[in-house]
Amino acid sequence: MKKLSVSSASAGRCWQQARGPSSWPAGRTSWSSLSTRVTRRESQPADVDEDDLEEEHVTKIYYCSRTHSQLAQFVHEVQKSPFGKDTRLVSLGSRQNLCVNEDVRKLGSVQLINDRCVELQRSKHEKKSVAEEEKPGRRRRLEPRATCPFYSHKQLQLLRDEVLLEVKDIEQLVALGKEARACPYYGSRFAIPAAQLVVLPYQILLHAAARQAAGIRLQGQVVVIDEAHNLIDTITGIHSVEVSGSQLCQAHSQLLQYTERYGKRLKAKNLMYIKQILYVLEKFVTVLGGNVKQSPNTQSLSQSGTELKTVSDFLFQSQIDNINLFKVKRYCEKSMVSRKLFGFTERYGAVLAPSREQPKLSGFQHFLQSLQPGVTAAPAAPAEEGEDRAPRPASPLMHIEGFLAALTTANQDGRVILSRQGSLSQSSLKFLLLNPAVHFAQVVKECRAVVLAGGTMQPVSDFREQLLACAGVEAERVVEFSCGHVIPADNILPLVICSGPSNQQLEFTYQKRELPQMMDETGRILCNLCNVVPGGVVCFFPSYAYQRQVHAHWDKSGLLARLAVRKKIFQEPQRVNQVEQVLLEYSRCIQHCGQAGGMVTGALMFSVVGGKMSEGINFSDNLGRCVVMVGMPFPSIRSAELQEKMAYLDQTLPRAPGQVPPGKALVENLCMKAVNQSIGRAIRHQKDFASIVLLDQRYARPPILAKLPAWIRDRVQVKATFGPAFAALRKFHREKSGSS
Ligand code: SF4
Repeated sequence: MKKLSVSSASAGRCWQQARGPSSWPAGRTSWSSLSTRVTRRESQPADVDEDDLEEEHVTKIYYCSRTHSQLAQFVHEVQKSPFGKDTRLVSLGSRQNLCVNEDVRKLGSVQLINDRCVELQRSKHEKKSVAEEEKPGRRRRLEPRATCPFYSHKQLQLLRDEVLLEVKDIEQLVALGKEARACPYYGSRFAIPAAQLVVLPYQILLHAAARQAAGIRLQGQVVVIDEAHNLIDTITGIHSVEVSGSQLCQAHSQLLQYTERYGKRLKAKNLMYIKQILYVLEKFVTVLGGNVKQSPNTQSLSQSGTELKTVSDFLFQSQIDNINLFKVKRYCEKSMVSRKLFGFTERYGAVLAPSREQPKLSGFQHFLQSLQPGVTAAPAAPAEEGEDRAPRPASPLMHIEGFLAALTTANQDGRVILSRQGSLSQSSLKFLLLNPAVHFAQVVKECRAVVLAGGTMQPVSDFREQLLACAGVEAERVVEFSCGHVIPADNILPLVICSGPSNQQLEFTYQKRELPQMMDETGRILCNLCNVVPGGVVCFFPSYAYQRQVHAHWDKSGLLARLAVRKKIFQEPQRVNQVEQVLLEYSRCIQHCGQAGGMVTGALMFSVVGGKMSEGINFSDNLGRCVVMVGMPFPSIRSAELQEKMAYLDQTLPRAPGQVPPGKALVENLCMKAVNQSIGRAIRHQKDFASIVLLDQRYARPPILAKLPAWIRDRVQVKATFGPAFAALRKFHREKSGSS
């Protein structure tokens, strides 16, 4: 376990302060006192300043992790701990996890659930306006539509109180919501101010707009980011936005028709901004080589390929450098034009959509849409008879707003990738964030302490340099702490093997790895390993393409048949939904072989670094007695995105004496992070044991060895030839199998 923390002098006091007498006391008493306090504040006269009506946020810890199952595991640990009884904990999640309206839940996808929920709330607003209009003397204009019965202010307040009384995971929260007939999605958000511990996924914490929409305030709080090994990539991914040619055309078409219908009612200033948005959309399509007036599906582009531009070059090439995007963005935010457009297309969608293709929205964009505060009523127009009430995908303009926002937030730190692929609908514009620290800076600035924790945080230099130093954190504020591994030293055997049984040097560079002699030598090594390793062997390849190539070569040469004498062979499946089935068969095979005896002693799994089995999958005990890493999984240097990121780091980060340039260090770190994640799959508990075999002489270089986790690095043996390596492996597994 490794962790980095950024702290202020008061960080050590946070827990005591959160639970101390000066703060809210814990348990039931605390919540009733809070309720009293809030009620009193809410009952103050209407002319009291808005800020005074807001609930106070007690000092708290925000704990975030990557997946809901990791968050649930953490909540269960809190429940079991001595603090479980009197900690006010609230779990946040998406509507997909927390919605209790069965009619909405059964829609399945995040997008449809978000859209339907927002629509139901909009209906609530409309219902109110209908009530207004039904007053004597007013003519009724609209039939009231369905609203969500779980979105009642009174019930939500009761649910909020219940949530804070006892620690609950997401499932318990949903059960409580059903019982109380109140929405857990909103109820949990209402509970944030009084909670001492808020458990939430990355996406809510790491995006300023999502934080704001969820009502999270980080000032003076403590943030713990678990599983932080991918934090830099996560922040980059969350803030990188891609818009397709289809979305651009669709947004243009919808906005144009909205303007045609309501143009006369719009104020001149609003009309001006809408025309600017239309102009920008048209220019974005033009820069991709398309025409906004034609269907994106039928437009084939004369050019194809990828072009990478700085933000200012992109704006200039698109001929929109004369448009003030900051003002356009502000107009979008204030007017909520995309939300209005969503309502408009809900009513007239059938005649608007230029193609039947649904906009490609990333999960996070949907998530952001769902968090937009306030719901704007659709334009006042009569509902048409026989109107299709089925929810439709949200407005593509919402997604494009994210792209515009990205263009305005990071001029020097961002790039735009123009990807032209065959037809306009397949082409896209992507904003690439080069400096994730821009967005992390606010977190470290506001919090009293930030803890980045993970099982395999090595190499940590990226976090220090790319994230913390670039976010303005002084080196003295960063504390590094590593607590080693729970297993005894002799339960792992990490080996770097530099050459194979026939003395072939092992160096899997792009030039050499496809040589038949390299693939043959790798096969011979695996055959030898499978003879002495019991149970499961997991073999990682640097890419899917290379794995397929090696598999085909071994199939032809008869090596697969030789391997199959000792191990049943499995391959990582192409599709995510097949992973579970393959793993089930793999573990059944190992179990069966262990009981039956015979020639076949287990199974051999061919996996890919960074693939579906290199993270989050547990190859404990017999499932993974040996992990083999074939070559070094360097990211593709031909990637335009990686090249730009390397150049950016070389320009912006200082180069320490005797060190490789920052860009090259990035490539090495990406490679070693992936290696560390993969090899960490096999050792999962204190009594577990496994050998770790790194096949490539480049692993023996001191700067590379230094990037292994300390608990592996301290025990690693470099073997120049195969004989001693094989002897060490045979001895290790004989001893361990005898004692287990
Ligand atoms: S308010 Fe809550 S329960 Fe109702 S639809 Fe939205 S998420 Fe579901």
